[in-house]
Amino acid sequence: MNYQHVLEQIADDVAATPGRGRSADYIPALASVDPSRFGIALADTDGKVYGVGEWRTPFSAQSITKVFTLALVLAQDGPTLWEQVGREPSGNPFNSLVQLEYENGIPRNPFINAGALVVTDRLQTLTGDASEDLLDFLRAESGNPDLGFDIEVAASESAHGDRNAALAHFMASYGNIRHPVPTLLDHYFRQCSIEMSCADLALAGGFLARHGVRADGGRLLSRSEAKQINAVMMTCGTYDAAGDFAHRVGLPGKSGVGGGILAVLPGKGTLCVWSPGLDERGNSVAGVAALDRFTTLTGLSVF
Ligand code: GLU
Repeated sequence: MNYQHVLEQIADDVAATPGRGRSADYIPALASVDPSRFGIALADTDGKVYGVGEWRTPFSAQSITKVFTLALVLAQDGPTLWEQVGREPSGNPFNSLVQLEYENGIPRNPFINAGALVVTDRLQTLTGDASEDLLDFLRAESGNPDLGFDIEVAASESAHGDRNAALAHFMASYGNIRHPVPTLLDHYFRQCSIEMSCADLALAGGFLARHGVRADGGRLLSRSEAKQINAVMMTCGTYDAAGDFAHRVGLPGKSGVGGGILAVLPGKGTLCVWSPGLDERGNSVAGVAALDRFTTLTGLSVF
């Protein structure tokens, strides 16, 4: 398979598609990013990277980081994590409060904000510094020691973070959050603000394609745990459009409101696409279109 050629073909096809959606505006620092920017990278399981467009440009990883915090906690907690957070699609927007009351403060899955807050809270307990632990891991897996937090984005989100604060306080009332909410939110917003390029994210996600094995050959997750994360990405990774994403793309994927989407080709590699224009569900319009083209051109969906 000539991945470079395939990515070039996809970039041409997507460039010809009109309508790119809108940049996220509920985090003011993200609103000014041009929605028509585009990059795509593929890292194979040996760490060779192919890319087109702005594939080396750092952007706000946002909710894509939820995949990595989940992996770090699952690696230490194993199945007991699933007592604190579920693994069912929510069918609700990523920042919804309604289900939490019916379900006694147990979030539906680790990729909605409520679930990610629980996972970050747990990582804080396990490591004493959740955001630095995540950053260290991402630097190691991507091979990029320059990765860092975007303090402006984190501050912007904190200043407009009432809904995440409400989610955290509500779950704390059920005993499902252990740290003071301001501490937790500080780590959560810093995690979301990490700036990474498509190449960085594709490399960092390599352990998901290598069935749990890290870039240095050490094992992070059992094969079964890596499967679990890929499965939750497939069913819950693209907000309340996960069914549509599975239908169109057929790969485990996790999107973020910065416009990135990470997708896994189990046993083969990891893709990351970035284009900041979002649809009404919060997924990158050109990103989903590009991944749709990828599996159509290559036949490399998991089905
Ligand atoms: N930091 C964002 C929030 O919590 C992440 C949202 C996302 O990318 O889905 O609202």
